[in-house]
Amino acid sequence: MNTKYNTPINSLQGIRFCALVGTESELQGDTVVGRWKSTQEPFYGLPRKQLLLEQFLNWSSEDQHILRFIRKYGPLYQNWIRGGKFWVRRSIWSTWQSRLRGMWESLMNEPHYFRFKCVIDGASFSYKNSRFEFRVDQLATFLYIEMASCDRRRLRKCLADGCKAPYFVARHLGQRYCCNNCATWAQREFKKNWWKEKGAEWRKQHPRSGINGHGLT
Ligand SMILES: [Zn+2]
Repeated sequence: MNTKYNTPINSLQGIRFCALVGTESELQGDTVVGRWKSTQEPFYGLPRKQLLLEQFLNWSSEDQHILRFIRKYGPLYQNWIRGGKFWVRRSIWSTWQSRLRGMWESLMNEPHYFRFKCVIDGASFSYKNSRFEFRVDQLATFLYIEMASCDRRRLRKCLADGCKAPYFVARHLGQRYCCNNCATWAQREFKKNWWKEKGAEWRKQHPRSGINGHGLT
């Protein structure tokens, strides 16, 4: 998490947030069975101000993808224990995702009337590499902190039909589509609808425009 960006200038102390990640896991039927790695892999957030939360909300819920997420990061609501075992049912993954997606969408609708209860458990403070650090014990807590500290005016769900990764944080306040492809799709739709509604009238007024084969042949 980018603390320079997230820490108010008059805060007592700059703080960075950390979660321990990395597991060895495999699929057994509809369950991911795994154990936390025995070496600590501190995770401070993704580069370029991207939130892990955005990735998680957009992550595919196909078995192999769930497995990839859990191998890389870990399960959400389990305390990190060196070498500790865990298992995650596929249905639980969907529950996690819809819970956090629901919170994101509620925040989009009610940005000023939403508070986060403190769900932090077993978290610890430390001072590492000249930095004040807050290390959470569950990956879920890291995601909640990202959601709670994000500028709520920028939370978006892409409006393009069939968008594969619709949850995103807007780079500017007017942004409604997650990427250029989706924005181009929207422009095309807009033009299509415009022609459907107003095309006949426009062609009547511009008989020599050549559009749709009229006028120039
Ligand atoms: Zn999109």
